Amino acid sequence: MYALDAAHETAGRITRDYQLDIHISDRFPDDPPFVYEVGGQIPREPDFHVNGDNTLCVGSPLAVRRALRRWPNVRSFLARTLRPYLYAVTVKLDTGRDFVFGELRHGTAGQLQDLADDLRLPEDQVINAINLMLMPSAEADDQPCICGCGGVVSNCALRDRLGEVRDLFSATSLRVLRDEIQTLLSVQHR
Ligand SMILES: [Zn+2]
Repeated sequence: MYALDAAHETAGRITRDYQLDIHISDRFPDDPPFVYEVGGQIPREPDFHVNGDNTLCVGSPLAVRRALRRWPNVRSFLARTLRPYLYAVTVKLDTGRDFVFGELRHGTAGQLQDLADDLRLPEDQVINAINLMLMPSAEADDQPCICGCGGVVSNCALRDRLGEVRDLFSATSLRVLRDEIQTLLSVQHR
């Protein structure tokens, strides 16, 4: 059981008990926990940021991984990531108001937008960016830059942004992400 007790200027103090199932993987904190709501309070809909596999979409993968990198313990995950999500869900359940912390992005489309914003690249360059992150860095450095600067990667500020994102993901999770984005783009362009 998780007893939500949170206050924010948008809707004041809120308390609510949720029944959650939280799975912490062996790879925590490199991989974020999976959280399921099992008390039947949160509708299993994208509007409530519940993923297709019924895990709660508690934040964008980049944001969640960043927070875990900075505060690598379960208590901080609950306080900094899960609690704001549940606060926003509770406000939406009670008042119908949309997510008070801004629309959290979710799903593959959200990951794509997030990566594009983070890398300051157009979305259609994100696959190329992931490929650069998967290359040995000396090889990536010599590639023509994908930001449009006309130089090679090693001479561009993009290099640091790529490095920062690469540090947040394992090579395996980067490949999974690339496959998901590729599938999404092929569906969109059909
Ligand atoms: Zn560049």
